[in-house]
Amino acid sequence: MLSVSEALSTVLREAKPLPAEKRDLALALGGVLAEAVTSDIDSPPFTKALMDGFALREADCRTIPATLRIIEEVAAGKVPTRTVQAGEATRIMTGAPIPAGADSVVMVERTEAVSLTEVRVIVAVKPGQNILTRGSEMVAGDVVMPAGAVLGPQDLGLLAAVGRTSVYVSARPRVSILTTGDEIVEPPIMPGPGQIRNTNGPMLLGQSQRAGGLPRYLGIARDNVESLRSLIATGLSSSEVLILSGGVSAGKFDLVPGVLQELGVVSHFHRIVMKPGKPLFFGTSCEKLVFGLPGNPVSSFVCFELFIRPALRKMGGHAEPGYRTISLPLSTDFRTANDRPTFWPARIDARETGFTVQALPWQGSADLRALHTVNALLALPPGAIDWHTADLAPVIALE
Ligand code: AMP
Ligand code: MG
Repeated sequence: MLSVSEALSTVLREAKPLPAEKRDLALALGGVLAEAVTSDIDSPPFTKALMDGFALREADCRTIPATLRIIEEVAAGKVPTRTVQAGEATRIMTGAPIPAGADSVVMVERTEAVSLTEVRVIVAVKPGQNILTRGSEMVAGDVVMPAGAVLGPQDLGLLAAVGRTSVYVSARPRVSILTTGDEIVEPPIMPGPGQIRNTNGPMLLGQSQRAGGLPRYLGIARDNVESLRSLIATGLSSSEVLILSGGVSAGKFDLVPGVLQELGVVSHFHRIVMKPGKPLFFGTSCEKLVFGLPGNPVSSFVCFELFIRPALRKMGGHAEPGYRTISLPLSTDFRTANDRPTFWPARIDARETGFTVQALPWQGSADLRALHTVNALLALPPGAIDWHTADLAPVIALE
């Protein structure tokens, strides 16, 4: 049996970054840049006013008040035509180009109108004030975003600023999701005797999406070799990652590992020292990754977050695909007694004084309802431990 960290290294060793693809800006949010983006212009493209007011020469305002002759008015989008000489000022609007000769802008609130053609400056002027110099944010040729950056909404704005309508990002891994079990029915059906609804299909679809994958649901394979064989073959031929739910434990009808082997999937591990989710199968077929998750919904959820999410992130181009364990103070007392490393459903709360974490009441691997507000896992060592409020506990954030 492998430890959690050995299993994760094995998965990350096999997960290979996918090639880049061109994507329209409108679809690029959350993408990982596969190119360094350079600017095609200076920004700002001209030296401009940051305030509505008067462009003038600071030397003319060393004695206050100073009365200056207004020679021109320049609105944003217009270009000045006159040079500001000694004793002169140009009325200027925010965003308009600074006229030649001027070195400062005084905001209109710091002036008094004398007449239509004269203005009085009533406070001292600092040279260069309220002026943004051409190229002070970037100059043409500057790298404004490095490869590997994860695109947020503000980055889409920056890409637009440098003239981009599309961008090269890492491709998203295609993920096939296959549910198994004779007892499973789809959600619209009222379960009959011995049947349960398929919770894992929709859940794994959502988890795959959240991890940056492109998921596709293959349906329910029944617990017989023929049914499993044909749906597994479909999954292997149409995606980079195949996720199966159920059928990987030691029961008589847990046929998944055998069928995978028959179809040429090489097994890398099948047991991990952890709770929940001991029986996790991981194998590869050429460059494709195959995960067999335990059917219990919480085990399935946790195993996805710990092993599949990092794999999808690595394939999707993330430089740091794994999760980080952080320390947060507990907001309640909590007692644990585990024989294995345990990943306990938890919630991080943002409070005025900072982040805290609390263990959610949880009855075990089948208790999906307990996960309703989960946004973290407590990474608990084995042993009996009394945790007290304000103790620092190791946490893996999921969002
Ligand atoms: P298995 O790993 O196939 O032995 O399943 C373990 C438990 O999880 C059993 O109680 C199954 O009924 C349940 N289970 C398996 N697949 C699903 C699913 N897709 N949705 C909800 N429960 C499931
Ligand atoms: Mg089963």
